[in-house]
Amino acid sequence: MKIAMIGTGYVGLVSGVCFSDFGHHVVCVDQDQTKIDKLQAGQVPIFEPGLDVLMAKNVEAGRLSFTRDLASALEGADAIFIAVGTPTRRGDGHADLTYVFAAAEEIAKTAKDYAVIVTKSTVPVGTNRKVHEVVKAANPDLDFDVASNPEFLREGAAIEDFMKPDRVVVGVETERAAKVMEDIYRPLYLRDFPILTTDLESAEMIKYAANAFLATKITFINEIAALCEKTGADIKKVSKGVGLDGRIGNKFLHAGPGYGGSCFPKDTKALARIGQDVASPMAITETVIRVNEEVKHRLVEKLRDVCGNSFKDKTVAVLGVTFKPNTDDMRDAPSLTLVPAMVGGGAKVRLVDPQGYREGQDLLPGCDWLDDPYEAAKGADLVVILTEWNEFRALDLSRLAGVMSAPKMADFRNVYDPSDAKAAGFEAYVSVGRSDYG
Ligand code: NAD
Repeated sequence: MKIAMIGTGYVGLVSGVCFSDFGHHVVCVDQDQTKIDKLQAGQVPIFEPGLDVLMAKNVEAGRLSFTRDLASALEGADAIFIAVGTPTRRGDGHADLTYVFAAAEEIAKTAKDYAVIVTKSTVPVGTNRKVHEVVKAANPDLDFDVASNPEFLREGAAIEDFMKPDRVVVGVETERAAKVMEDIYRPLYLRDFPILTTDLESAEMIKYAANAFLATKITFINEIAALCEKTGADIKKVSKGVGLDGRIGNKFLHAGPGYGGSCFPKDTKALARIGQDVASPMAITETVIRVNEEVKHRLVEKLRDVCGNSFKDKTVAVLGVTFKPNTDDMRDAPSLTLVPAMVGGGAKVRLVDPQGYREGQDLLPGCDWLDDPYEAAKGADLVVILTEWNEFRALDLSRLAGVMSAPKMADFRNVYDPSDAKAAGFEAYVSVGRSDYG
């Protein structure tokens, strides 16, 4: 099979590399010249574990290449994937489909032969039909089908997720398109990974429903965590006890500083807007969006409390700024709310993150960046754990407390045990949904 992949971001690049590893010939296209220059030079523009090795292997094998030239990428392509961004549209919460429709129009004007135009981007129900209209209007003679193939990979574990998915969802309208999609995913089909074939609308809806459900699960446990703090229960024990129920499951039940990232915030907002548009209110999702914002503000107040009711002139070391470990993605990370609140309140903030600097330096102005947690904690009044990178999971707490001027910790990923923090010399320790001291 020959595949063209439009967009080489977190989804497009991982999908393109993995499809080429299936044995398909893949040409990845991006309008961003800097990205294409890097990719052509063998560099991966994002941080995703294992992607560099897999990319090099498939480039070497002659199955994977990168270009800005759409025409050469589309030549002989059986399928053309659209994997461009669908961010929140400014002002109204809708998914911004500008990039999707622009890509569809460019494809229409460039493609010559039959191909399936596959939307991998997360798009509201009805978008694939609009893609069909856009292509038809721009090139009435083109022979094509559309397909919806939402992506479920998680940043940080993207290759594993793509190669061993819980399921692949394919929305199609014709047998011909179904056959092309089946051939593309045959390596997964042969290994018994479920491939669910649906209509276009159901495929589009599955993606939003799945993300809204996961965001709800996280938000639910964060709300239970707040209740634990008031009642003396311990959220770690509660999560464990709840998650052992097979009907519930233990994933996405970890209390923390609220969900962030490139998907949940924008997809929950878009789903709420879809509901409003068709007068079918998404009351649960709307509440989840509101409560998730409140979680972050509640934690800002916790930080202020532990700092003695004011950030003024406090030195704070923040460990982790990316929205989760093993990615450099900063989109909607909780750090973007918590850090500016401290800086705005007069704190001197030092940041440590294994991959966050490239994106974070512009997003978090007025902070110092350091490489080492102990260096960052030197003379500090407070250490805050915001992202549970492995590097921050096994700190020598006594050493950390020993270099601080007033050893206090806000552990918003519940990595450590309050009793261990106390034994190590921390005079105050606050976390999420457990008994704090100090
Ligand atoms: P991204 O912003 O990282 O990448 C998008 C890329 O598309 C950019 O490199 C941009 O330059 C390029 N692009 C835009 N218009 C183009 C055009 N006309 N021609 C060529 N290139 C073009 O986005 P992402 O995180 O990869 O997300 C892509 C889609 O996948 C979104 O709809 C997102 O919701 C969805 N998704 C993302 C994830 C994730 O974890 N990031 C997971 C599942 C689904």
